[in-house]
Amino acid sequence: MAYLLARVLYYIKPLMTCSSFDPHDHAACRATALSQAESACAAQGLQFTPMRRRVLDVLLGAPKAMGAYDILELVTPEGQKRQPPAVYRALDFLTSNGFAHRLEKLNAYVACACPGAAHRPAFLICRVCDRVAEATDVAPRRLGDEAAAQGFRIERTVVEALGICPGCAA
Ligand SMILES: [Zn+2]
Ligand SMILES: [Zn+2]
Repeated sequence: MAYLLARVLYYIKPLMTCSSFDPHDHAACRATALSQAESACAAQGLQFTPMRRRVLDVLLGAPKAMGAYDILELVTPEGQKRQPPAVYRALDFLTSNGFAHRLEKLNAYVACACPGAAHRPAFLICRVCDRVAEATDVAPRRLGDEAAAQGFRIERTVVEALGICPGCAA
């Protein structure tokens, strides 16, 4: 469970720069993020069910993007039956409401670093340690213009940059 001990995913308030390779005391960010998700759900009339909360909590506590199977392991209490559909539904809820993102390359999920802020996420993925940081909007307009010129309607873009994080570069 090294996942839960490391502290890399950084929660930052909406509209601030998202960055996440800096080590910091993540427990406070995690608690804040959970309670903000709770109030955001209440404000929008969305149900923040115990399973949705548990899944988000696991993502917030993880230093890396997590696959659905790893999440399933962590949200299932000892001795209880695993419920993959419930976990997939929770992930679907979290990603479609902007509390988490899915990384195509890793087939894994991360908590959103700036929930509530309108943004198109871009991800910096360390190819050595698999840690992930979310970056803010990176010039999506040009792509939008080109797509429009070709009569293509973009529904979703995922920007994933592969490289080396400061920890692994050191
Ligand atoms: Zn985000
Ligand atoms: Zn790394």
